[in-house]
Amino acid sequence: MSPQIDNRQPAASTTIAAAMLIAAAATTSNVDAAPRSRPNQIKYEYAQPNDPSHQAIYDQMKQGQALEHLQQLLSPLRLPHPLTLKVASCDGVADAWYENKFVTLCYELLAEILKSATTRDLPTGVSKADTILGPALDVFLHETGHAVFDMLQIPVLGREEDAADQFSAYIMLRLRKDEARRMILGAAYHRATDIPPLETESARDKFSDEHSLPAQRAFNVLCIAYGADKKLFSDIVEKDLLPKQRAETCEIDYDDVTFAMTTLIGPHVDKTAAKKFHEVWTRTVSARRTRLNREQQ
Ligand SMILES: [Zn+2]
Repeated sequence: MSPQIDNRQPAASTTIAAAMLIAAAATTSNVDAAPRSRPNQIKYEYAQPNDPSHQAIYDQMKQGQALEHLQQLLSPLRLPHPLTLKVASCDGVADAWYENKFVTLCYELLAEILKSATTRDLPTGVSKADTILGPALDVFLHETGHAVFDMLQIPVLGREEDAADQFSAYIMLRLRKDEARRMILGAAYHRATDIPPLETESARDKFSDEHSLPAQRAFNVLCIAYGADKKLFSDIVEKDLLPKQRAETCEIDYDDVTFAMTTLIGPHVDKTAAKKFHEVWTRTVSARRTRLNREQQ
């Protein structure tokens, strides 16, 4: 996302003070330390848009039960507090953030995602709908990552924005293979459209941003995906979307993410439910994909 997107709130950053990426291996006693953690803590809320031009997005999301599907996908997470996924108007600002147990995604950002979606299928087989659903899912999962780090007091070494990107990529890669591919490549496509021309922003502003550069974020997610499954994502290296030199170490990158996720967050996930709802997501999203691909630009 562009630098102004998903401003992490200071309150969250202080509770998730920079610490060690890999804490002591999680044990049963770690789980017991958060006694009120339980699954099915995800709530959702569709706020009415203030801008009439966003009414169609509101209607389509409600009709397609977009937040209900996300709620289901994330229901296996055991959290100590309810987490509400919300879509709302943001006074013209295309943004998304986590604050006070709410993940808010602005209609303005969804409108921007719709606007930058591809109009024709990409060489990777990614469709228009994938370049809408992928980025939208990625934003929700990224913000949920911030929420999980905060609620579960997960130590993060390195930039939290990068960790939230990795949290999102890891969850998307748990989906069925073809669905994981569509969501990952759709999200990367959107990041690539978000790279500002050099003259529009000073190098100082870009390099000092809390997020990595959009191009780095796109390459990082492709690298994690390739590291997870070299066969499923072989064409991104063959087509040079991911340079060969970077691809050589992607398995290590993915192993690092896997170790952190399974050690720190794994104990807070109902794995049987997670497997089930990864399948349910893939089934329920297909109708939405068909409709989005049919719609005129
Ligand atoms: Zn963020």
